[in-house]
Amino acid sequence: MNITVFSTKAYDRQFLLDANNAAGAPHRLTFHETTLTVQSAMLAAGSDVVCAFVNDQLNAEVLTLLHQQGVRLVTLRCAGFNNVDLSAANRLGIHIARVPNYSPAAVAEHSVALMLTLNRHIHRAYLRVREANFSLEGLLGFDMQHRTVGIIGTGKIGTRLAHILYGFDCKLLAYDPIQSPACLELGVHYVPLDTLYAQSQIISLHCPLTPETRHMINAAAFEKMQPGVMLINTSRGAVIDTHAAVTALKTGRIGALGLDVYEEEGDLFFENLSEQVLQDDVFARLLTFPNVLITGHQAFFTREALLAIATTTIDNINQFIKTGNAHHEISTEKLA
Ligand code: NAD
Repeated sequence: MNITVFSTKAYDRQFLLDANNAAGAPHRLTFHETTLTVQSAMLAAGSDVVCAFVNDQLNAEVLTLLHQQGVRLVTLRCAGFNNVDLSAANRLGIHIARVPNYSPAAVAEHSVALMLTLNRHIHRAYLRVREANFSLEGLLGFDMQHRTVGIIGTGKIGTRLAHILYGFDCKLLAYDPIQSPACLELGVHYVPLDTLYAQSQIISLHCPLTPETRHMINAAAFEKMQPGVMLINTSRGAVIDTHAAVTALKTGRIGALGLDVYEEEGDLFFENLSEQVLQDDVFARLLTFPNVLITGHQAFFTREALLAIATTTIDNINQFIKTGNAHHEISTEKLA
């Protein structure tokens, strides 16, 4: 099959080519660095399959262009699919597949890295020590033990996080319309969202971005949280209303903010923009706070995860050829 791969970096190429070779090299892969947009969709001409990533645009217009070029399967190299217009895909008969479970540990561990770095001010200590400044002023942290952590979304990643924090002896609260048996077994307490906001000293977001969760963490939610709360987001940027977060940082309602995702990240992340003037004023404001730590959507970025993403992607395509359906298809029928 001819496969056009968008938003690729050298590491994507390496892992996908290795996975294709391991399967006997059945596919011809064409790699593009550019993201998939209305302008770049024509690059998929002659392909049966498009392989896309988190910031590729798969709206109705782009899907229509792909369909006109004969694309029958879009396989995502990620778990989230908020960037896909599923009802348009259904209408056009384009199958959408993803990698639902590549490494929950990678993302959960990165969330803990953000928590610990912010709590113990490692990002500031690193810079101070390099300048022979050994003062501890401003670096005071707290014990994680016995802290109350609220996990919003206890799917694969949230559950893995609960396991890690259980090891820290944290008190764990959760909110999720579907309770995880593994979390219940650990002693996680499912509570209403407002209770989680009111009682948690750390809140970590692990729900998908949906119409319901878009800007779920807004000014009203911040009002219900403890002053000085630590908020961690490795899910999707738009779960947080960033303007409201900036206000909450200025008033001290948020005591620490760890972000791996940002609602306008499509214009920023995965590229080296260090020679350019940053155009996003909200992002620039976030960078001015000493208690904000941002990573550029790298929570997934471990060897194990890239290997699993590449293997599952090739497997999705092989299964699609064999049966007409990929292994991990997103059902678009109920959205038609
Ligand atoms: P999952 O589907 O296993 O779990 C998501 C959980 O969220 C489910 O239990 C679901 O019931 C719950 N949920 C849905 N709506 C909710 C709501 N309104 N309030 C609270 N909970 C709600 O997904 P996962 O594999 O754990 O991944 C979670 C999210 O993490 C993905 O959707 C993706 O956006 C994000 N993610 C980020 C990275 C990264 O590199 N930063 C990598 C992988 C995934």
